Amino acid sequence: MIDLVIRGGTVVPMVENGKYFSGDVLIDNGKILEIRRHQTDEIRARQTIDASEALVIPGLIQCHVHVVQSLLRHQADGLELPDWLQTRTWPYEAALDGDGVQAAAELGIAELLCGGTTTALDFGTTHDHDRVFRVAEELGIRFISGKTHMDDGYTNPPALLEDRDASVAEAEDLGRRWHNAAGGRLGYAVAPRFALSCTKGLLEDCVALARANGWLLHTHASENLSEIEEVRRRFNRTNIDYLDSVGLTGPDVVLAHGVHLTKEEKHLLAETGTRICHCPGANLKLASGIADIPGLLDLGVSVGLGADGAPCNNRLSIFHEMALAGTLHTLRHGPSALDAWSVLAMATRDGARALHIEDRTGTLETGKAADITVVGLDAWSLQPGGDPASRLVYGATAGDVRHVVIDGRPIVEDGILLTASGPEIQDHARTAWHAARRRMEA
Ligand SMILES: [Zn+2]
Repeated sequence: MIDLVIRGGTVVPMVENGKYFSGDVLIDNGKILEIRRHQTDEIRARQTIDASEALVIPGLIQCHVHVVQSLLRHQADGLELPDWLQTRTWPYEAALDGDGVQAAAELGIAELLCGGTTTALDFGTTHDHDRVFRVAEELGIRFISGKTHMDDGYTNPPALLEDRDASVAEAEDLGRRWHNAAGGRLGYAVAPRFALSCTKGLLEDCVALARANGWLLHTHASENLSEIEEVRRRFNRTNIDYLDSVGLTGPDVVLAHGVHLTKEEKHLLAETGTRICHCPGANLKLASGIADIPGLLDLGVSVGLGADGAPCNNRLSIFHEMALAGTLHTLRHGPSALDAWSVLAMATRDGARALHIEDRTGTLETGKAADITVVGLDAWSLQPGGDPASRLVYGATAGDVRHVVIDGRPIVEDGILLTASGPEIQDHARTAWHAARRRMEA
């Protein structure tokens, strides 16, 4: 008797592009026990998930989100990054109390889970980050996250300005308590906001803290033209060159965006093994630009996908990001710039590699954690058939996700979140947003 079987679906293991077959996924003790190519009757399982007329794929991975920003959704449209930060996002983060942080994390993580994302690399605000981890623990997502760091008085608003030593000490304390918690499902990433928000000393402290503990480093880089111009004005270097000078390049560094990069910076990313998270939805909405992802992939850079934050997207849907990644790059590189299988790989296998968790998740293989998303094929846009990657990347939406399993545990069934009450989460979010808005107005 095994714990769980996912029966009768079209299995897309993502071990290699283009491969799929009908079969059953057998799960026991949180792990994939076996994948059987043909439906068999003799499997005895405590629970069965019906995947007929559905695709069974590795749990989807987002390499850059901000669940703490979820309450500001639909409140920050029509702005470029500098104004978006200064007039909306920073005042909002400063106005959040602990309950607000929790409500935002609940909303963001529930949306991720119900949309088929099983793993996320997340960026916090400066305070109350314990509340985010507690929500991630309860809701059951695989989650690597860190509080952000902001100590440069020249750039940051006073309400979020931190003391360098206290900021690092807080991250160290969070990391010690949450890294590898929940059976290894949670992880810590040291997350300075971006080059301009931190003093050089704090950036160096962040790098030292992460490397002393084997934690990931996660920051934003080269998203907006005025950002890189300001870096050049203040430090007389290109942005990636400056980050490299403080140690913020390397295989353990995940940089969100990379929209505006010189040829030399692209080579530096490739040579150092630095990861890039492509966030096309946010880059378009904030009018930041289009990252040269085919160019980075040609150089061998490891690239994942992410929705960024709800106020700059306005959804945390990996399907939206996949559709954009699969279409946007045709403008510069022609219609076959990034094929659907390569895009699906970015949201699964390559995303796992970017986060150094490819031994655990990112493909469906015996012995890996049973992180699985089942996507129903009933929608009009998924008819009448066709290649699974094409259907997922160009035809599917987050609403097509039927079931989600993480570490062998069903988290979403028939579109319903099992680990928390959806109506309660939405109620908390509305109440917390009204409270935060009142404090923002005051
Ligand atoms: Zn971001």
